[in-house]
Amino acid sequence: MGKSILLIYTGGTIGMVADTHTGGLSPFDFEHLLDQVPELQRLDIHLDCSAFDPPVDSSDMNQGHWLEIAQTIVENYGKYDGFVVLHGTDTMAYSASAVSFMLRNLAKPVIFTGSQLPVGVLRTDGKENLITAIHLAALEKQGDPYVQEVAIYFGSSLFRANRTHKYSAEDFNAFHSPNLAPLAEAGIHLQFRHDLLLRPMPGSEITLLNKVDDRVAVLKLFPGISEQVVKSICEIEQLRGLVIETFGSGNGPTAKWFVDAMRLARSRGVNIVNVTQCSSGFVEQGRYATSASFTDLGVIPGGDMTLEAAITKLMHVIAYHRNENDIALAMMTSLSGELTTYSSLV
Ligand code: ASP
Repeated sequence: MGKSILLIYTGGTIGMVADTHTGGLSPFDFEHLLDQVPELQRLDIHLDCSAFDPPVDSSDMNQGHWLEIAQTIVENYGKYDGFVVLHGTDTMAYSASAVSFMLRNLAKPVIFTGSQLPVGVLRTDGKENLITAIHLAALEKQGDPYVQEVAIYFGSSLFRANRTHKYSAEDFNAFHSPNLAPLAEAGIHLQFRHDLLLRPMPGSEITLLNKVDDRVAVLKLFPGISEQVVKSICEIEQLRGLVIETFGSGNGPTAKWFVDAMRLARSRGVNIVNVTQCSSGFVEQGRYATSASFTDLGVIPGGDMTLEAAITKLMHVIAYHRNENDIALAMMTSLSGELTTYSSLV
């Protein structure tokens, strides 16, 4: 019997159709999508659709929308073999990362996709992305889904969602996974990296962790950043989490005012996570004198996490833990495959 897949349409370019009169883009309904992609009927797969009403441009997404996606999956978990989330590309890496922390012990595929051009446009990348994402979500080997995690399929690659970053506003290959190879490549064959695919703990059940704390901020360093900017972020009332995007392997200014601002934030209980501005590689605090103070102040090294993973993970982790050591430990532990643990660096 064919597989059943639930499409969750949240919004974004993939679901827009050009109005034949005005040429403007407007969101589709599900029947319209089937008309635009008749190839879907050739898949031996039963498709249902659950759509956000109204559809949301991904620049407007927030934690309420992440929860709506995760909840829809959990509520329908028993009914479907897999889930394909249609989402705008702009913040897809954030939403998909957040959902990967909310849904634990996944044993079924959750595949986000979207497109740079709407499905109705002649040169669209949307049809291939959609058809292959659905195909991947239905793929199984001896009754077991190939994919049992949250992933993004885009431009012929399947990526672990919380490793991705949208790097191009132009290319059909809009996403990168700088620190983890793609889980699969779709060429003539679908080639999986079986060694990378996540599997749930045997006997575990899907769990929805629905809490998110938005008392967080991101501080991107740049040479010449002023004391006023750093202090105004560090002194935000109620702030509980701060991701600093640092230079190279996790370095920042050594100026006294900068270190003092960090110290003040730490003394107020702000949990600070250090991620690098480099698009690949990882944070190694203490390698240079310019990161020694971070270690002294208890700044949490973010390893090779993307900014998208680090901020959504911090929002998740501080919602579940109060104790600083527990927060640091959780941030330095790979919860959903978002972090490489370098136990054997030489
Ligand atoms: N602005 C759109 C969005 O992210 C762009 C896209 O879908 O690619 O929702």
